[in-house]
Amino acid sequence: MTLTEQEILRYSRHIILPEVGGRGQQRIKSASVLVAGLGAAGSAAALYLAAAGVGRLTLWDPAPLAEADLARAIAHDRAHLGLSRAASARGKVTAINPDADVLASAEPDALPGLVNGHQVVLATAGDWEAVQAAALRTGAAAVFAGVRGAAGAVFAHRPGEPCLGCVPPEAREAAGLQPEEGGGCAVAAAAGVVGIAAATEALKLILGIGAPLTGRLWAYDGWAAGSREVPVTRRADCALCGRA
Ligand SMILES: [Zn+2]
Repeated sequence: MTLTEQEILRYSRHIILPEVGGRGQQRIKSASVLVAGLGAAGSAAALYLAAAGVGRLTLWDPAPLAEADLARAIAHDRAHLGLSRAASARGKVTAINPDADVLASAEPDALPGLVNGHQVVLATAGDWEAVQAAALRTGAAAVFAGVRGAAGAVFAHRPGEPCLGCVPPEAREAAGLQPEEGGGCAVAAAAGVVGIAAATEALKLILGIGAPLTGRLWAYDGWAAGSREVPVTRRADCALCGRA
């Protein structure tokens, strides 16, 4: 997919990086990412993916935008109160990248089916096990980002590598790697760190560069200003990938 002259100017600070280059920016433009959840972390992820030039973004979130979202989820503003968070975020995502093909879905049961046709799914909310199962079926890469208070965690999956179901539940719980559902309580800026880390993982998976957060869970603690890693190995008895 070629870049227009305007896109070459817009993404010039990306294109000049040897890891990205013109070819990498074309890959980003050709990419399709499903963002599940437009709360604090999902908002930050969606806006940065739009700014990076992802060509097709699908935003899923059935929750209606509420006043409390405005203090933490930066893809929204007051004018959109009452809309679904998916529809609300679509406005700001499109404003950042008018050339992107942006679809919003507020259908509660649509999430697993939406994974089909996307290169990467970035999940901050919803039924993560169903998302991971759908990604295993379709071959999509997946990035999971959870937040709790000023802490959170990110974990990524590519076909053949340890999946979300391989992460022991107690390790997920300890790291705060849980879906951020409506009403979740998070320090917005810390959730933004986690969401942006997840967006960075999505871009790495699209570009095929760097060391993705596969086979390891990254746990961030905003109060301590520190992070740690939890190794994750593939489990033969995993309910999701063990029989894949
Ligand atoms: Zn697994």
